[in-house]
Amino acid sequence: MPRFKCSCCDTIYPTSMLIWRCDACGGSIEAVDLTPLRRADIATDRSSLWRYQKALVHQGAVPTFLGEGWTPLIRGDWDSCPVLWKCEFVSISGSFKDRGVAVMINHLLVNGATRVAEDSSGNGGAAVATYAAAAKLPCRIYVPAHTSPGKITQIGATGAEVIRIPGPRQAVADAAMADASGYFYASHNWHPAFVDGIKTVGYEIWEQSGFDVPDAIIAPAGSGSNLLGCFRAFSELRAAGEVDRLPRIYGAQSESCEPMARAFQTGTDAYVEVETHMSIAEGIAVSRPVRSRPVLAAVRASGGSITAVSEASIADAHRRLARAGLYVEPTSATAAALLDNLIKEGTIRANEKIVVILTGSGLKASDLIARMMEGQIATR
Ligand SMILES: [Zn+2]
Repeated sequence: MPRFKCSCCDTIYPTSMLIWRCDACGGSIEAVDLTPLRRADIATDRSSLWRYQKALVHQGAVPTFLGEGWTPLIRGDWDSCPVLWKCEFVSISGSFKDRGVAVMINHLLVNGATRVAEDSSGNGGAAVATYAAAAKLPCRIYVPAHTSPGKITQIGATGAEVIRIPGPRQAVADAAMADASGYFYASHNWHPAFVDGIKTVGYEIWEQSGFDVPDAIIAPAGSGSNLLGCFRAFSELRAAGEVDRLPRIYGAQSESCEPMARAFQTGTDAYVEVETHMSIAEGIAVSRPVRSRPVLAAVRASGGSITAVSEASIADAHRRLARAGLYVEPTSATAAALLDNLIKEGTIRANEKIVVILTGSGLKASDLIARMMEGQIATR
């Protein structure tokens, strides 16, 4: 039976409990005692992430379904190096976050949540607002007061209440956490069902590539949920005897906000406080990632790394992706920019099996992309 466990003080909670962090110490909680996935457990009649439900923390009914998961894994090349692109940007709200949010919202619904709050002006907020709307759950999304109207259009269109909070980003999170008016804090950064849903991207990469293990998986890294999700998926498959090795997992950050790349470089266990600058990779501009410890440990255990790339290289990779038919948001292009560097330095060889996760749709960031194309944004 799956349970929740505090990652700091080891307190155990039933998964039916509506909590988002440890009641005893405030630490982050993780889903444990999950059933490892075996090939025979895949519900092949479900063309969605729910084909892997046996291995998920949410074992109950799925009242809200918007076709989450089972995104295309397509063959392509990058500078004549063969690559498999995992196209998460085709998800219903336009980003990979739908995986985690679909599992989280269904779990909360079945366990009695009646209204949800979240803090994010980006893909996380859009995904929670989208699934809350489909579930007919009243929803409040807290956003920074200075957020551009374009960024919150998708959230507002779902009927979610948008609350603008002045001050730094942390003040926005604090306001959502402190919402005492009966809204459950459905945080994609904190809730354990979110990361559990994200791990299904790893199962899909395995299944869609013929039940094989790629040599390397590269993903943009803000909070690092794709890195952690892939590591957990392949670790569980290895524990179940379905695979005999792990892929090397690489996380891409921007030099404008690189708390985990810096931690990787300096050998520390948790993120490093860094000075941050405006970035075209706004989706991964997370200066204090909640799960930095398990993310860093996972990447190290896989034999991969977390590295920062320059803004100019992100813009260049974005242009090349779009010209290959892959219209993603600039954040997603950090992973392709990192692939360039890893090939150049010989860390990844062109004859290896490489998967790059393309996380969000370019349609989310048309204003930004237009300014990049017009040369209005100077990239360092
Ligand atoms: Zn605790």
